[in-house]
Amino acid sequence: MKVFRTIREFREYRAELTGVGFVPTMGALHLGHATLMEKSVSENAVTVASIFVNPLQFGPKEDLSKYPRQEAEDIELATNAGVTAIFCPSVEEMVGSIKTSVSVSGVSEFFEGEKRPGHFDGVATIVARLFGAVCPDRAYFGFKDLQQCAVIQQMVTDLCIPVELRFVETIREPDGLAMSSRNAYLSAAERGHAANVYRILKEVAEKIRVTPTEIDSILDSYRSEFTLLGFELDYLEVVDPKTMRESRNYPGSMRVIVAARLGNVRLIDNVAI
Ligand code: AMP
Repeated sequence: MKVFRTIREFREYRAELTGVGFVPTMGALHLGHATLMEKSVSENAVTVASIFVNPLQFGPKEDLSKYPRQEAEDIELATNAGVTAIFCPSVEEMVGSIKTSVSVSGVSEFFEGEKRPGHFDGVATIVARLFGAVCPDRAYFGFKDLQQCAVIQQMVTDLCIPVELRFVETIREPDGLAMSSRNAYLSAAERGHAANVYRILKEVAEKIRVTPTEIDSILDSYRSEFTLLGFELDYLEVVDPKTMRESRNYPGSMRVIVAARLGNVRLIDNVAI
């Protein structure tokens, strides 16, 4: 495994390569990340992963300082997934001198964008900088972060960034909970309870397939169920995954999205209808 800390060193190495797949991450890697890496390994001559806990995408009251960091384990997981090189820049290297911010309007503005002001500007700015540094032919992102996929797709289209984006379905724990680095914050009791998120998403999707004219009342009753179960619900909606606008156009490209807090942990997830 080759580990690079600076853009300059990485770009010297990159100049010799063709067919580069790229998996950007914030580390604390799990099977979801490994699946993105394995997909890239199967589709590209070389796979590069990055590990960078991006301070620009955390709000002032969010978990930047306690975000899990475990570089040695991450390198081992990436090696086992077949990754050839890892780019692990410092905060100074990535954001120390930048004067540019990338802001994607429209898709960034609802749901996560509303609940986490500035989050997607932070994501777009750093993903754009990573794309510039790594020059990938293909880049891999998880549908787990559905709105992030839409924001990055819009950015790549608008800025004519020559990368093919590949989106991968969410990898789940045996009880259905979407794998996430933040699941480590859940207490044992919360962890058991968290499986309700996927159960409800699946039930909502199934009910909508059966009675698509009833989307609003289906959503309302499951919003109440989240609250009754002790979740603090940010949103439960049906959206068009490209525009991230509410959608009632069944059948069509639609996903049920949810963000709900359990104790101090904010869980997000989504499923196709
Ligand atoms: P993160 O390290 O959380 O920024 O995630 C890095 C990439 O892995 C993003 O594209 C995520 O959407 C993706 N990802 C995170 N969790 C999962 C999962 N459970 N299944 C598939 N992809 C995931």
